[in-house]
Amino acid sequence: MARYIGPVCRLCRREGMKLFLKGERCYTEKCAIEKRNFAPGQHGKTRKQKLAGYGVQLREKQKVKRMYGVLEDQFRRYFEQAERTRGITGETLLQLLERRLDNVTYRLGFATSRPQARQLVRHGHFTVNGRKVDIPSFSVKPGDVVAVRQSSRKNASIAHALEEVKGRGVPEWLLYDAEGLSGRISSVPTRAQINLPVQEQLIVELYSK
Ligand code: SF4
Repeated sequence: MARYIGPVCRLCRREGMKLFLKGERCYTEKCAIEKRNFAPGQHGKTRKQKLAGYGVQLREKQKVKRMYGVLEDQFRRYFEQAERTRGITGETLLQLLERRLDNVTYRLGFATSRPQARQLVRHGHFTVNGRKVDIPSFSVKPGDVVAVRQSSRKNASIAHALEEVKGRGVPEWLLYDAEGLSGRISSVPTRAQINLPVQEQLIVELYSK
């Protein structure tokens, strides 16, 4: 599946907020949002964004897409799936994104950022219910156990991430086992358990036009 490979700090500056795409750097003063919190490009500093209606909805959608590293077509498919599912569409959309394997490994602390988690998944460092899975968009469900593969337990990136993210906590819907380097999905996350400063209703409004 295609992915964005351009400069990522630019994406944060476009959205005017931290999207946490670079791991530890995002928590330091080197973060571009700390240093240059204005839109990228020649006129980014002078041109003030006056957004309303469609513009606000579009930016909200772009923000979520970029946080999870999903491109437009795939994001649209998540939305259509959410629409077909019973419940609140916006909340279901976020739940589908949260249940991606790359996101779950990131939430469990095996990677410092979602882009890194995606790469680690692609390189086959994780199992789901004991079987190797290397598809970042793989959707986990309650009861599944995501673990670091036995042969990857000494992987330097994973060890470094575990050290780095110590203290950031694991969401309630994931039961982390530090000994086994694994996590069980205890339930589908509720909106309150998804720590994301977005208004998903705006995305629903955008796609419902
Ligand atoms: Fe965004 Fe992280 Fe870059 Fe800061 S360091 S601008 S949060 S990707």
